[in-house]
Amino acid sequence: MKLAISNWTFENTMDETNLFEAFAKLSSVQMTSPRSLEIIKESIDQRHKPRYVYTVHVDINENIACEALNKNNPGLHFRELSEKDLRGPVEKTRTIRDNPKKICVVGSGPAGMFAAHSLSMSGFDVTLLERGNDVPNRHKKVKALFSEGQLDSESNICFGEGGAGTFSDGKLTTRKNHPWIRWILSEFVRLGGPKEIIKAGKPHIGSDRLRALTIQFRKMLIENGVKVHFNQCVDDFKTEKSKIEKLCCGESEYNCSDGIVWASGHSARDSYQLLHNKEIPLEAKPFAVGVRIEHQQAWVNRWKNMAETNDLAADYSVVCNLDKDNSVYSFCMCPGGQIVCSSSHEGYHVVNGMSNYRRNSEFANAGLVAKVSLDDFGSESPFDGLNYQAEIEKKAYEASGGTYKAPAQRVSDFLIQEKSKTLLPSSYQPGLIPCNFWEILPEKVCHNLKKALHQFEEKSPGFAGGGAQLIGTETRTSSPIRIPRNKDGAIDKFENFYPCGEGAGYAGGIISAALDGLYIADCLKKKYYA
Ligand SMILES: Cc1cc2nc3c(=O)[nH]c(=O)nc-3n(C[C@H](O)[C@H](O)[C@H](O)COP(=O)(O)OP(=O)(O)OC[C@H]3O[C@@H](n4cnc5c(N)ncnc54)[C@H](O)[C@@H]3O)c2cc1C
Repeated sequence: MKLAISNWTFENTMDETNLFEAFAKLSSVQMTSPRSLEIIKESIDQRHKPRYVYTVHVDINENIACEALNKNNPGLHFRELSEKDLRGPVEKTRTIRDNPKKICVVGSGPAGMFAAHSLSMSGFDVTLLERGNDVPNRHKKVKALFSEGQLDSESNICFGEGGAGTFSDGKLTTRKNHPWIRWILSEFVRLGGPKEIIKAGKPHIGSDRLRALTIQFRKMLIENGVKVHFNQCVDDFKTEKSKIEKLCCGESEYNCSDGIVWASGHSARDSYQLLHNKEIPLEAKPFAVGVRIEHQQAWVNRWKNMAETNDLAADYSVVCNLDKDNSVYSFCMCPGGQIVCSSSHEGYHVVNGMSNYRRNSEFANAGLVAKVSLDDFGSESPFDGLNYQAEIEKKAYEASGGTYKAPAQRVSDFLIQEKSKTLLPSSYQPGLIPCNFWEILPEKVCHNLKKALHQFEEKSPGFAGGGAQLIGTETRTSSPIRIPRNKDGAIDKFENFYPCGEGAGYAGGIISAALDGLYIADCLKKKYYA
């Protein structure tokens, strides 16, 4: 019998041998020692004095009732592991098939890459189409954006090999609790990621290591027969009855009659327009907009009582629920990181945060965003939310004088609605332009941010103090559009079209996008090879 035990808390850090002994002392456990015990996750609970919290898998000879274990060991949670928990999502050895089904995957973000991986191992004939460059060439374009403010609208922080995650903070956390997450993390380790991410409570890989890993991932896909094409933007498709037969990228055409995994992310506005023109149903959905807030990392470390000698950078998360419809929260906090220009369209300015593995910059930044819903932007057209988002980005671009320097304002000036006369040093390249966010963001958003900043300052003095600065705008917290799919993972209009990942509204980060790619691959496996 295999058991999962979670929320198992100790004052000291434990290894597998110590946990073996602790297991034998649990109430209702009267048996010989386990056949094996594996630490699945170790996290540190900093709320009181530090405590170490474990999730483990234990393989035991006997069958014991989980109800008794749960009842007699309050605080711990016992669960019998199911077949689904134990099965990996991807075949260990590649299946070779005669006349394999042909699938096109659009977008090489985590959703597209994991879908392509799973499908190729199950014997599909997979073509992966990516509008941007491969990692090395994309990196050159991103460097030009940072140093000279030159944006390439096909290869940037959002577009190109690896998708939006490649130049990210590389936090590998998700709110989802799924048995495949561990498998995804172990694939990252196998391809060169740091070993500790498998067990870490808050796994982090950093943009530098993610770039290297993405290249290894592509090599693995090619070895497994995937045809990978860069600089191929799907700009049209040919349909016949209820199927899409061919995807078009300029002059090139790709046969996709058995399936399309559409994983184009949440920034490809032209791709949403293409789907709309082809009468694929889209829906507007709520998201959040605001700014990035930047502090000195040393201040965050002091706030979080991190010892001076500790070379880790402390993180934080803040939330302010103003009423049932309005809240402001920190988003995608990057300790020891850098604020970056994540624009993908000429004339529109948007920021996000990234960091390297060591998280050793002197700055800490986080999105500070207010929820916005259909009430704020309407729901007549599925593009209402996207247009609301684009309008803010356009104003931000204009406020920075039509450049990719970022609009910025000291928090103290934001609170009195005045443009800053001078700005604080910042991690943002290619530089900042003083602005007044009250002239860029919708009024309601500014009022909510202001109320929340007062509350955060009250609870954590300094948060909205002289060392805090706002840099904007943060508008792409999640997709403003959803592509509804049916129970088989496809859409009713075209039976071979499978919306996937963040752009379709089914993910909100690297791991959840990868999970959704695996889910869609499973849908295709069930359809053709069950
Ligand atoms: C700067 C930044 C930092 C982030 N930090 C984190 C973090 O620390 N942790 C985390 O979990 N998440 C983070 N995220 C979010 C995360 O990157 C995304 O949630 C995730 O990448 C979504 O995966 P996806 O595969 O659905 O789409 P994407 O990663 O967006 O990939 C979509 C891909 O499709 C391509 N594409 C689009 N249209 C077409 C077309 N028509 N034809 C061909 N190709 C097309 C794009 O070029 C892109 O490569 C960050 C995002 C950014 C921008």
